[in-house]
Amino acid sequence: MAVATTQTPERLTSYNPATGEAVGTVPMHTAAEVDAAVARARVAAQSWSQLSFEARGEELTAFRKALAAHADELAELIHRENGKPELEAYTEVMMALGHVQHAVARAETALAPKKVSAGMLANFRATVSYHPLGVIGVIGPWNYPLFTPMGSIAYALAAGNAVVFKPSELTPLIAVKIAEIAAKTFALPDLLQVVTGAGATGAALAKSAVDKIAFTGSAATGKRVMMAAAERLTPVLLELGGKDPMIVAEDADLAKAAEACVFGALTNAGQACISVERVYVASAVHDQFVDEVVKNVRTLKIGGDDGHLGAMTSTAQVAIVKDHLEDAIAKGAKVHTGGPDAISGSYIQPTVLTNVDHRMKVMSDETFGPVIPIQRVGSLDEAVQLANDSKYGLGSTVFGGKAARALAGRIRAGMTSVNSVMGFAGIPSLPFGGIGDSGFGRIHGDEGLREFTRVKSTAEQVMSIPLNMMSFRQPNDMTKRLRGMIKQLYGEGVVAKAGDLIRKLRS
Ligand code: NAD
Repeated sequence: MAVATTQTPERLTSYNPATGEAVGTVPMHTAAEVDAAVARARVAAQSWSQLSFEARGEELTAFRKALAAHADELAELIHRENGKPELEAYTEVMMALGHVQHAVARAETALAPKKVSAGMLANFRATVSYHPLGVIGVIGPWNYPLFTPMGSIAYALAAGNAVVFKPSELTPLIAVKIAEIAAKTFALPDLLQVVTGAGATGAALAKSAVDKIAFTGSAATGKRVMMAAAERLTPVLLELGGKDPMIVAEDADLAKAAEACVFGALTNAGQACISVERVYVASAVHDQFVDEVVKNVRTLKIGGDDGHLGAMTSTAQVAIVKDHLEDAIAKGAKVHTGGPDAISGSYIQPTVLTNVDHRMKVMSDETFGPVIPIQRVGSLDEAVQLANDSKYGLGSTVFGGKAARALAGRIRAGMTSVNSVMGFAGIPSLPFGGIGDSGFGRIHGDEGLREFTRVKSTAEQVMSIPLNMMSFRQPNDMTKRLRGMIKQLYGEGVVAKAGDLIRKLRS
């Protein structure tokens, strides 16, 4: 079913991609309204940042419980706006709540001030501390409309910030529901606000007076966000697309690898930033692996509330997937299941391709659809070289025996799952993010909390010593002493601890 895209300047309509029916409408917020939301958030941030971790934790726990109490409504909205099956919608709710819980549990420890070595200045106490930034602008995508933004929202709030969230124009109602729950739960009603609209509303948020932008979406939009944020030198966190490779070694458990591959490539109809987008299989087991994958794919149910694969969320994405399939076939790919002719409206039959190579878009560009292109490789070195032959570097997967861990270390990506798929996304203490065109900065984990803080360094002199480097009053022979110190501290063959040397100089 084609998704209608008619919008008015004042209202944005959200459509169910499976049926084409309107799910609801939301305001199209203007730049002035975005600025006003940011100004209200700044007031909330001032109070929120003054609270103890414990006090913030209590409110955030109440928020988590309220979200859990509305799990059915949230899952239903995700199912209807995004098109994913009910089971996947509930999985998304569960994973999102896991992050709220984790962010609260870790915030105080991860953001505790740290005493660090004062090095040469042994009479100093050196401390690194973490402080809230203020207001965080979160811009989210449609593919995981609750889980993905919550990876920024929960951590930003737990770190003491207020948030203004702009959801995708394809999935705004879930965000409006989150804002409703937040307004009822938090003592400060403006702590977590939602502004809705198309790209222009996101652009207004990127240009607004927020203290950081956490953007999740495509690399092309990420670049626009970064340019807009540059006007005020607003820092950005960019979680962008991927072209995640999977490597299957000769000694891998093929049944498990195939099962993981099918899930990793097809969950959310392949519309995950960390989807398995290309597979490299050792030549000796290639044919057997392909048979296993095809066998798995043939058991899947497409469509329906309880299907394994739902409707594609946007017609634009269907066109991209079709283009990638046609390009691959024109260049010699073999179709085992699905294919471009099996596309019907918003539904794409899972497509397994072999005989693929890096000349094809399906192996180089983000496909973001239910496609499993499998390439035969002559060696693991070749597999690593091909895996790393990408402008992206988000997730990755390795299946194999003893060598798997070492192989994982050679993949140029932000995250790798070994003998599992997407495992890193299910572990809240692991930072999530990429390199290259997959973006920079990290959500989740302790790094994800620190991402929403400013780092403050404090050097406190705790005792005076005769030798004070931060003064113009120096002994006449200071140059000579320094020359000696340089040799002793940093020259060849001399091992001296800075503190010992200072004590020697003091005596
Ligand atoms: P998108 O880039 O089209 O849109 C993302 C958001 O940006 C939307 O809210 C949109 O309204 C907004 N936007 C559009 N133009 C803007 C502008 N000029 N300034 C500011 N905001 C603007 O992405 P999408 O199609 O919604 O999401 C799919 C992409 O997101 C895929 O590439 C996927 O890989 C990526 N993604 C990445 C992660 C990750 O964590 N790395 C997670 C999920 C999705």
